[in-house]
Amino acid sequence: MIAPTTLFALDTLLTEEEREIRNTVRLVCDREIRPHVAGWFEAGELPARELARTLGSLGVLGMHLDGYGCAGMGAVSYGLACLELEAADSGLRSLVSVQGSLAMYAIWKYGSEEQKQEWLPAMAAGERIGCFGLTEPDFGSDPGGMRTTAKREGGDWVLDGTKLWITNGSVADVAVVWARTDEGVRGFLVPAGAPGFTVNDVKHKISLRASVTSELVLDGVRLPAAAMLPGARGLSGPLGCLNEARFGIVFGAMGAALDCLETTLAYAAQREVFARPLSSYQLTQEKLADMALELGKGLLLAVHLGRLKEAGTLTPEQVSLGKLNNVREALEIARKCRTLLGASGITLEYPVIRHAVNLESVLTYEGTSEIHSLVIGKALTGIPAFT
Ligand SMILES: Cc1cc2nc3c(=O)[nH]c(=O)nc-3n(C[C@H](O)[C@H](O)[C@H](O)COP(=O)(O)OP(=O)(O)OC[C@H]3O[C@@H](n4cnc5c(N)ncnc54)[C@H](O)[C@@H]3O)c2cc1C
Repeated sequence: MIAPTTLFALDTLLTEEEREIRNTVRLVCDREIRPHVAGWFEAGELPARELARTLGSLGVLGMHLDGYGCAGMGAVSYGLACLELEAADSGLRSLVSVQGSLAMYAIWKYGSEEQKQEWLPAMAAGERIGCFGLTEPDFGSDPGGMRTTAKREGGDWVLDGTKLWITNGSVADVAVVWARTDEGVRGFLVPAGAPGFTVNDVKHKISLRASVTSELVLDGVRLPAAAMLPGARGLSGPLGCLNEARFGIVFGAMGAALDCLETTLAYAAQREVFARPLSSYQLTQEKLADMALELGKGLLLAVHLGRLKEAGTLTPEQVSLGKLNNVREALEIARKCRTLLGASGITLEYPVIRHAVNLESVLTYEGTSEIHSLVIGKALTGIPAFT
């Protein structure tokens, strides 16, 4: 028997340091996350503060950023950490992606020196949590239509509007909120508890239950001029952050798929049907072979995109290729694994159904699969099918 990643000799593409980082994150997930995550999912509750501190001491929060207490690791190392976190649960990887690639990256890339000093070291340590408010009730795929406004009043800014589906919303100490101004879309740092700022959790989710998802309501929230991110102007600001987070998903989705496949390989080896192990049947082996193939291809693509990112040449279209393929295939793998587990596949005793329903959210957020197809279509034809 040979593990799916060994079949592809994946480790030969990684440095010793990258392998060590992956192994360390896996160990911490095995110890601190896996024993509890199905329970968090079932209860729809996440001990986000404790987890943020654990993840901060592990060094994965903003690990691909330099300075301000961040680890300054390469893109492949960051990707492998996302893979291991998502092998535990997509909700955990979402917490880390939003913290590091959306909230911290926005401050790191577009913030003033004072904003960086104030927030980044504490966020890297997991002492403070951030969220990223772009989506609105009526504008998800088309954030350019946003209705949230920021108006100047004297030296201050006053924000009004509603953001929806915001990961980490109610546990965040700071929300990076994108709003329409006279000079185009700008980003603002809204501290939790600011007068006029209320946060309500989204209830009744069937997917990403081990993740906090919230509505942010801004009703005349008055902020000083220094709350605006000086370096971001227009939609390219938030879109630049999303590109960072999508890169983590390219690896992360493969982590969920790997966990499903490993679980299923073990299950099919011990489950007897018609007096023989399930794994001995040709129909089963075809499913297992197809899944290993798609998993390996997705991992190779992820590492390739990671190396391009490290070389500074990765384009948004290439990130779309990775996000579209790897989430789509991960979801397919999770569903196929579910069939092999039979009725056991629908319970939380095994991680497969949890990954499958989580991946439904991952398929939608950070750009839906349709939007990534359109991005790739535009690159191939030169014709934008959407504005
Ligand atoms: C669990 C979860 C966490 C999230 N976390 C965050 C967060 O932290 N911050 C944040 O800002 N947002 C977050 N989101 C929001 C997410 O990014 C949006 O849901 C996503 O962008 C899609 O927007 P929508 O839900 O409004 O769908 P819509 O944009 O209404 O899309 C509906 C359908 O129409 C399709 N569609 C849209 N445009 C076109 C077109 N031109 N041609 C063909 N089809 C099209 C879409 O692909 C989709 O299938 C989160 C969402 C979820 C589910």
